[in-house]
Amino acid sequence: MSATSNGDATAAPERGREFDTDVIIVGAAPTGLMLAAELRRVGVRALALERLARIRATPKAGGVGGQLLKFLDYRGLTERFETASGKPRPTPTFPFGGLHVDLTQLADNPMEALLLPQPDLERLLEEIATELGAGIRRGHEVVDLSQDDASVTADVRGPDGPYRVTARYLVGCDGVRSPVRDMAGIAFPGVTYPEVNRLGHFTMPESVTLLEDGSYELPDGGRLPFGYTQTDRGVFAISSYTPHDMGVYTNEEETTEYDDAVPMTVAEFRDSIRRVLGTDLPLGEPSRLTRFTYGARQADRYRVGRVLVAGDAAHQFPSGGVALNAGMLDTVNLAWKLAAELDGWAPPGLLDTYHDERHLAGARTLLHTQAQVALRRGLDGAADALRQVFAELLEDDPARRRIGTMIAGADIRYPMPGANPHVLAGTLTPQLALRTDRGVTSVAALMHSARPILLDLADRQELRDIARRWHPRVDTVTASTDARPADVLLIRPDAHIAWAATIDEPADSATVALRDALSHWFGLPLAEAFTTTTPAAR
Ligand SMILES: Cc1cc2nc3c(=O)[nH]c(=O)nc-3n(C[C@H](O)[C@H](O)[C@H](O)COP(=O)(O)OP(=O)(O)OC[C@H]3O[C@@H](n4cnc5c(N)ncnc54)[C@H](O)[C@@H]3O)c2cc1C
Repeated sequence: MSATSNGDATAAPERGREFDTDVIIVGAAPTGLMLAAELRRVGVRALALERLARIRATPKAGGVGGQLLKFLDYRGLTERFETASGKPRPTPTFPFGGLHVDLTQLADNPMEALLLPQPDLERLLEEIATELGAGIRRGHEVVDLSQDDASVTADVRGPDGPYRVTARYLVGCDGVRSPVRDMAGIAFPGVTYPEVNRLGHFTMPESVTLLEDGSYELPDGGRLPFGYTQTDRGVFAISSYTPHDMGVYTNEEETTEYDDAVPMTVAEFRDSIRRVLGTDLPLGEPSRLTRFTYGARQADRYRVGRVLVAGDAAHQFPSGGVALNAGMLDTVNLAWKLAAELDGWAPPGLLDTYHDERHLAGARTLLHTQAQVALRRGLDGAADALRQVFAELLEDDPARRRIGTMIAGADIRYPMPGANPHVLAGTLTPQLALRTDRGVTSVAALMHSARPILLDLADRQELRDIARRWHPRVDTVTASTDARPADVLLIRPDAHIAWAATIDEPADSATVALRDALSHWFGLPLAEAFTTTTPAAR
């Protein structure tokens, strides 16, 4: 057993007791830890098995951004993340295919970010998951797995020797090289680009000065412009948060296969800078040195029976800043569906919508990250022209907003059943301030408990009466809000809108559509469930 774990699968509802836990999570990094927390929130026993004995110190992501930041509010976690970051939100300018998208001038900037180095993020997520009662075992590697109609079994190599764990489901959150994906026979088609990216953070050397426009003045009087510079040999970029720090990035075509376990040295980075820039650059003391490659890949199936994949195990994007958002939101989509299966009320096909919805989200993220590859990798005149045209387009607010929305993943809309779904159906519920009989609240506050909610914003008694038949599985809340976007919102536990009644929608069509939507997402109404079904095999 590891030094840092709280060990065992935790106490939980009296279901599936013949198994060691409800859900085995392979990998306790951002995706696995977020899944553990989300599962515990909906009462599912979760056990995360992580082969590393402690959180990886290697700096990977420098922070999180996009829709995930909005979602944190729906779990009451924003303040905790901000405290862990301890830094102001960075200026909203983002790299996009070797260009810089400046969102600072947009009144409704769609892409927020939070600086939180990945080891700190993982520590925070572990704290949250553990508080909620998840089991996390570090130093425990899953070496094999098998499944049948009722269960899944993981063979584990732990510090005290091999052992087995059984559960109803297993989720591979085990990274881009995912052994779970391979063991489940899930293909991971795509490409790996023959380029190497190197990133270094240093103290600013005395001989270099940060100028007001973000460029660097060099000892010989020359200047390096802020942001990305295309050279004959690749891409070079600089950026600083303060006059005392220096961030440098290179990207060059290279087929060398580096061992991820061998860290990049300052000498290796200097050589890369010399090749790409054609000259030496003074560097201060290093605080972060990373080397990475890019691939564009996606699992062809996110589920095989009782085994599922999430995070980097399910997708790999060839541009930065979006992977954590995609991976952690996979888990938000998955957790409540697993809970529904385990509790026996999941309607047919519910768990398969995890693949449908999150594969679509991953494909959408691949679309713009691959477009970025085309923008950044071309070194000839035609590629320069493409970048120039793109940069000009990005001077227009609608284009910037569109790109910012894509980077944030805010353009992803899950397909919803039924004829003419409401324009909000399939999107993250807007953050509305609400007035209720019990006082002032908000959509975000209602979602902290991760329960389905029928939110009546127009006193539609006939629709509330229908939803009551799904009580206590679905909560009903009556409230008012300024400029209501719909009369009624049916909100899933992942804060996405399952169905909405348009303003003044006639009762006869709305009641039929609401009944269909409730059955589609939340199974049969309770009275019918008792009379027409036997307890489901969970
Ligand atoms: C240099 C760099 C910079 C990055 N910057 C950003 C950024 O700014 N923004 C962003 O969003 N993303 C960024 N990323 C990507 C981000 O780090 C990954 O998307 C993220 O780590 C994926 O999380 P994950 O939990 O899915 O997988 P991983 O972090 O890869 O974690 C998988 C875990 O599974 C464990 N594991 C594997 N096999 C087993 C097994 N058999 N048994 C038990 N445990 C196992 C591993 O030890 C590991 O801890 C960056 C990546 C790199 C390399």
